[in-house]
Amino acid sequence: MIVVKENVSLKEYTTFNIGGDARYFMTIQSLEDLRDALHFAKKHAIPYVILAGGSNVLIADEGFDGLVIHMKNDIITMDGSDITIGAGAELMDLILFAARKGLGGMENMTGIPGSIGGAVRGNAAAFGTETKDLLRSVEVLDTKTDEIMTFDVKKCHFSYRSSVFKSERTYIVVNATFSFVPGKEREIEQKMYDILSKRNAKHIQNIQSAGSFFINPKVNKELQENFHKEKGVKSRNGRVPAGWLLDLAGVYKKKVGGIQAGETHANYFINDGTGTAEQAMQLAAVAKTRVRNEFGVQLQEEVTFIGF
Ligand SMILES: Cc1cc2nc3c(=O)[nH]c(=O)nc-3n(C[C@H](O)[C@H](O)[C@H](O)COP(=O)(O)OP(=O)(O)OC[C@H]3O[C@@H](n4cnc5c(N)ncnc54)[C@H](O)[C@@H]3O)c2cc1C
Repeated sequence: MIVVKENVSLKEYTTFNIGGDARYFMTIQSLEDLRDALHFAKKHAIPYVILAGGSNVLIADEGFDGLVIHMKNDIITMDGSDITIGAGAELMDLILFAARKGLGGMENMTGIPGSIGGAVRGNAAAFGTETKDLLRSVEVLDTKTDEIMTFDVKKCHFSYRSSVFKSERTYIVVNATFSFVPGKEREIEQKMYDILSKRNAKHIQNIQSAGSFFINPKVNKELQENFHKEKGVKSRNGRVPAGWLLDLAGVYKKKVGGIQAGETHANYFINDGTGTAEQAMQLAAVAKTRVRNEFGVQLQEEVTFIGF
């Protein structure tokens, strides 16, 4: 039986450690639970929102006046080198499970927090590997028709940090199947370890943040070339890191209340434990204005807003 909780503090469910209470909160562990939760929202005529790992959201200080559906469906099955996993499972669980079975291909994504559903929705990526790369299919609940549908990769319309699940909010990712590449367990684990070290060297991971606050923007040729000259790295598909622009625009280390733009990565907004959503929004507004004034570039948030 699915339990309905009331007035649940949401900040504990986010890596940013920010957010007020949910009027109602349900943790779902199966498709049946998910359908029950949606039925509850419909019956009470209240809005609902999906929350999984909470590693890419900014939740309002006032919380969410509706039902938060907390995804925890995490069953994992295997068929040859294909692994099917519930959307509420952690991405890291998938990569580790695969490694122990001598299956690799996703090692570059080691250390990305959050769930399978969150990774599929945002096409999470690191060091050149994107969620879509090994994905075979996604099982989706269409909340308009209550039907389960299977999407192949093409139907997911993946692009940089995006998919059809971002634009069509009626779809909920229920599970996903990935085709891994057979390899040697020890070599796969070593690669995972190397990637973790690389991530830690690049920027501290163990902080209260929502990861990158802004999406890396597409910029003009001049900015792309400046980035190449300064960093010795070519821009990818015309995009440069938002963090680089934020540094140049003087947002680096800027603080509003308990929220500060990161020292080693200005695109990570870090909560010192006292920060609020309001302060994060204020810092975001300053950041956007400075980058627009300096470079004529309009930054767009990568984090999803809940309750605003
Ligand atoms: C320290 C740190 C490092 C990070 N590094 C990276 C990185 O290297 N690369 C990268 O791409 N990202 C990175 N992120 C961002 C984040 O980890 C990813 O975006 C992650 O995939 C989000 O998953 P989640 O389960 O936490 O989603 P949540 O934050 O819970 O939700 C994000 C959005 O997805 C929706 N959603 C979640 N599950 C489902 C579902 N089953 N169906 C439909 N919608 C759903 C939610 O409604 C919400 O709109 C980082 C974050 C942190 C805190």
